Amino acid sequence: SNSLEGKVAIVTGASSGIGKASAIRLAKEGAKIALVDLKEENAESVKRDIENLGVEALITDTDVSDPKRVEESIQRVIDTWGQLDIVFANAGINGKVSPIEDLSANDWDQTLTTNLKSTFLTVKYAIPHMKNKGGSIIITSSINGNRKFTGFGMSAYSSSKAGQMAFGKMAALELAKYHIRVNIICPGAISTNISENTFKENDELKKIQIPIKYPEGNQPLEHKAGEPEQVADLVQFLASDASSHITGSEVYIDGAESLL
Ligand code: NAD
Repeated sequence: SNSLEGKVAIVTGASSGIGKASAIRLAKEGAKIALVDLKEENAESVKRDIENLGVEALITDTDVSDPKRVEESIQRVIDTWGQLDIVFANAGINGKVSPIEDLSANDWDQTLTTNLKSTFLTVKYAIPHMKNKGGSIIITSSINGNRKFTGFGMSAYSSSKAGQMAFGKMAALELAKYHIRVNIICPGAISTNISENTFKENDELKKIQIPIKYPEGNQPLEHKAGEPEQVADLVQFLASDASSHITGSEVYIDGAESLL
């Protein structure tokens, strides 16, 4: 069934965009929600939205790239509700957009740590609490991970997103014996805040020769970026028993953008 009544979910990057819409969607199906984000202020308003649905929520203002804080925030979920059933590892950044020769080692590390190491940490610390009764893990990668490269300058981002796909598939194999399903979602352009500061005109971007058509103009189905709520419908499906035979899958949600 699609209902998530009696389930507990943790959502990272829950203050904004895809994470926010998905947290609210999972709550609408009855799951209690732990909201994880750097931006606690914005998480407060998501928490109120969820509580207005008559569902419990809590906030942990955690940096998902910090092992100790991830472990503590998952422990807080267990201390509060005694269980964990659904993990949405979704927090991410575009990071520095730059030609490779100008990308610093620190820029590279920041993107890879925030997007990929964080996914490992979130899954790692969730496993002990899910292995006795199973559950569903969903990882937000991107079409940039292997099918469509939306612009030069995103080598670090694309590498992190490809890494999430490989990690998710290994995790699906390894955790199958615990009946923990792991799936990877690959959105195309979605209208969120993620690119707010990424593609501003600057000298570095001018050096990049192929113009980035983003986020509009290159999506066959609707001729516009997708909405976070459309992604949330997929997250809800993968979180629920309606997808009980689906694990280790990459699910594209891009209006065929990646096929152009
Ligand atoms: P968003 O910026 O609206 O939301 C991302 C959230 O993650 C923010 O609230 C931010 O504070 C949080 N965050 C960032 N770093 C964090 C950290 N270290 N610890 C905790 N929280 C952190 O962006 P979004 O578009 O909703 O992005 C969500 C995911 O979707 C990302 O992984 C992104 O790569 C992926 N994605 C987005 C698009 C798109 O076009 N928007 C396309 C493909 C994939």
